Amino acid sequence: MTQTFTTDPELRPTPEFKTDEYVPLKKEVYVKKETGLDAMAGDGGYQEGTLAGAIRMKMRRDNKRFWAGDNISDYLHDSDKEHLIDEATTAFEKVLDALLIDRENDPNSKGTARRLAKMYFNEVMAGRYEQAPDATAFPNDSQDRYEGMLVVRSELRSMCSHHHQPVSGVAYIGIIAAEKLIGLSKYTRIAQWCARRGTLQEELCNDIAREIMKATASENVAVYVQAVHGCCENRGIMAHSSLTQTTVLRGTFKDDPHTKKEFFDNIKLQQEFAPR
Ligand SMILES: [Zn+2]
Repeated sequence: MTQTFTTDPELRPTPEFKTDEYVPLKKEVYVKKETGLDAMAGDGGYQEGTLAGAIRMKMRRDNKRFWAGDNISDYLHDSDKEHLIDEATTAFEKVLDALLIDRENDPNSKGTARRLAKMYFNEVMAGRYEQAPDATAFPNDSQDRYEGMLVVRSELRSMCSHHHQPVSGVAYIGIIAAEKLIGLSKYTRIAQWCARRGTLQEELCNDIAREIMKATASENVAVYVQAVHGCCENRGIMAHSSLTQTTVLRGTFKDDPHTKKEFFDNIKLQQEFAPR
């Protein structure tokens, strides 16, 4: 807990601070009573009168988690995004100002605040704001249905939620075909939708497995991700070739050593064919 000590001006007037020479910087922000939002008044800066503030309040009211790796598309209307980009632009302008970057005269920094806002919403964090990709499933229940293992290699671009540095790598998604099959490109679309957020690699691996299980109704899914992290390459330990590997095994991939081995053998074959 932080304690703030303020000098009592009556007892000990601060000589260099004369109140008639100063104006308060912050204005009070009010919210109309009985809008439902007033219940959260005074709750840590959530009363700023912005669309983002209102959406955050709704999510808090519903106990909806909105961490960097969470999808919050149910709380957004299609038309909200443009407005949120405008708000984020203003906020990024403040960040650039705080960093003492001349965004009026430096031609390369002029549009940076808006570029950043658009990049977050439409690209690097798009998977937070967009609904799950449509993965129409086809029946796999005929006499000669496919019962083998399927391994799909998906390129991934993500961002770590700690430092907002790029994470790039590949996911190998293994599945034993169940009664439903989804198009091959859907595996990659789902993996990318999970990756386009602020994530931890461990969490990302779990998210991909869960969403693939949902889309295919298969209990038997494995996901192996290998990626390099910008936060280790560009800062911190500055390790330029560090590779992080994570694996999630579900169902028979976890229980049957042969299935597990076949999955990793397939990955080796894939890597010989298309080394990263
Ligand atoms: Zn990081």
